[in-house]
Amino acid sequence: MENQNIIVKNALVVSCDAEHSVIADAGVVIKNGQFNWIGPMASLPDIKNVQIIDAKGGILMPGLINMHAHCGDTLFRGLVEDLALEDWLQTVWKAEAAILPDAHACQTGTELGIAELIQGGVTTIMDMFWHPETGYAAAKKAGVRWASGGIFFDGPGMDGFGPEMRLQQASDLFDQGHEFVGTLPHGTYTNGPDSIKQALALSREKGGFFCTHAAETAFEQATIQQNYGTSVIRHLDGLAALGPQTVLAHCVHVDDGEIKLLADRGTHVVLNPMSNLKLASGIAPVPAMIDAGVNLTLGTDGPISGNDMDMFLAMRLTAVLHKAVSGDATAVSTKQTLHMATLNGAHALGAGARLGSIEVGKAADFITLDVAAPHTVPMFNPINHIVYSASKADVRDVFVAGRQVMKDRQILTLDVPDLCARITAMQPEIQASLDAK
Ligand SMILES: [Zn+2]
Repeated sequence: MENQNIIVKNALVVSCDAEHSVIADAGVVIKNGQFNWIGPMASLPDIKNVQIIDAKGGILMPGLINMHAHCGDTLFRGLVEDLALEDWLQTVWKAEAAILPDAHACQTGTELGIAELIQGGVTTIMDMFWHPETGYAAAKKAGVRWASGGIFFDGPGMDGFGPEMRLQQASDLFDQGHEFVGTLPHGTYTNGPDSIKQALALSREKGGFFCTHAAETAFEQATIQQNYGTSVIRHLDGLAALGPQTVLAHCVHVDDGEIKLLADRGTHVVLNPMSNLKLASGIAPVPAMIDAGVNLTLGTDGPISGNDMDMFLAMRLTAVLHKAVSGDATAVSTKQTLHMATLNGAHALGAGARLGSIEVGKAADFITLDVAAPHTVPMFNPINHIVYSASKADVRDVFVAGRQVMKDRQILTLDVPDLCARITAMQPEIQASLDAK
C-alpha cells in the first residue's frame, strides 16, 4: 500500500537532527508521506485506520543518502581488479564501451545497484551514469529518490554518443519533472573548460546541481597542473564552478588553500573512502575539511571501485581512517560521520529542510535496523553502534515518503531474483567484451 498513514511503535529513534536527538521507547506517526508526530510511546496519539509497524525496540533512523554512485556499473563488478586508477579506467572503459550503448543493459545494471542500495538502507542516491534517463526510470520503479542528470564527456561516450549530443541530452532531462536534476561532467581531465562551462551554464539556467569528480588522484592533479598551470580545485574555481549548487566527488588531493576555497564557496564534497583505498587514490584530509566548515557527505562510488555499495562501510571507514592517519583518536566523531550519511547529503541536494532527519514535517524516508544480534548487544549508544557495529545486513525495513519499499529485507518494488538471473545471463557477453579489440 502506498503512502498510507502509518504508526511505528516501540522504536529507538535516532533522528540525525541538528542536536543528534535520540528518543528511546518512541512512537512515530506518518501521514501523507511525512512525519506527523514523534514522541514517547506513553503519549502516542490514538489514531484509527493506520498501518501499524512494531519496530520491536529496533533503531528507526533516516534513510541513508549516498551522494556518489554509478549504479549501472554493477554489470562490471569484479571484472577488473588491482590496477592503478588510470590503467583500471582504461580497461573498465573498454568493457563499458562494448556493453553500454545498450540503454536496456544500463537500466538493468542500475536496477540491480538500486536493489543493493535499498537493502543497505539507502533511500536517496546521486548517480552519474550513461543513459541517465534509464536511471530515473529504474529509480521510479524501485521507489527511491534519484539525483542525476546529463553526463558531459569530451571523447566518445560509453553510450555510443559523441560530445555534440551532451547539451541537448542534459537539457531534455530538466524538462521531465524529476525531483533532482543536475549536470555531471565526468572530470577536469576528461572535460575541457568549454564542456564544463556548458554544463555549468545549463545547470544554473535550470536551477539544478553541478557534480563532477575532482582531485581524486595525484595523477589527475599533475595532469591539470600541466594542462592549466594550476590545481584541480583552483581550475574549477577559475571556471566559476564552485558554489552551493556544486557537489565534488573525492577531493582527496587538496591543500589548505583549496580547502578554504571549498568552504568559502559553500561547495559540497562527497567522500568515497572505500574507492579511494582500493584504487590507492589516497585519503582525503577530512579533519581539515571539517575544521574549515566544508559540508562533507558520503558516497560509495561505483560497484567496480567499491566493490559493494555499502554506506555502513563508508561510515565506518570515515570514522576510523582519520584517527589512524592523524594519530588522534578524537578525529571525526560518530555523530559527525552519521550526519555525513544523512542530513549533510540532504543539504548538498538543497533539500535539508525536507529530507535527511526524523523530524515532524519532513518526508518519511526512514529505515529500521535490527539491534538484537550478537554484534549489537549491549547498546549503550545507538549512534556509536550505527557507525561502528551495525552493518547493511541489519537493515530490516525501508520507507521512502511513507511508502514501504523493503519489508523484512524483501524488496517490494523490484523482482530481485529475476534481476539477478537476467544479469547473470549477460555475464558471458560482458566477459567477452574485455577480449574485444
Ligand atoms: Zn565516481
